[in-house]
Amino acid sequence: MGLIDCLEFKPCPFCGGTAHISSHSAGGGYYLTAVVCDFCGANTGEILTRGGIFGDMFAYARWQTRKGNERECDE
Ligand SMILES: [Zn+2]
Repeated sequence: MGLIDCLEFKPCPFCGGTAHISSHSAGGGYYLTAVVCDFCGANTGEILTRGGIFGDMFAYARWQTRKGNERECDE
C-alpha cells in the first residue's frame, strides 16, 4: 500500500492495542476501508471511497482523532 505503511497508528483508545488498515472491494470500483484494532476489534467504521490512498487516509485520520468515549458496548 506504500505510504500508509509508513504511518504510525495511535494505540487503540479502548485497549491500547495496535491497529491496521482493512480494505476490501465493494464492487463498481468502490472500496470499503476501515482502521481496525488488532486486539479488541474496535474500528472506525467502513468508509466508502474510490480506492487508492484516499480511503486509507480518511480511515487513518478518523482513527487518529477517535476518542475513547464512543464505544457502544461496555465490554
Ligand atoms: Zn482495541
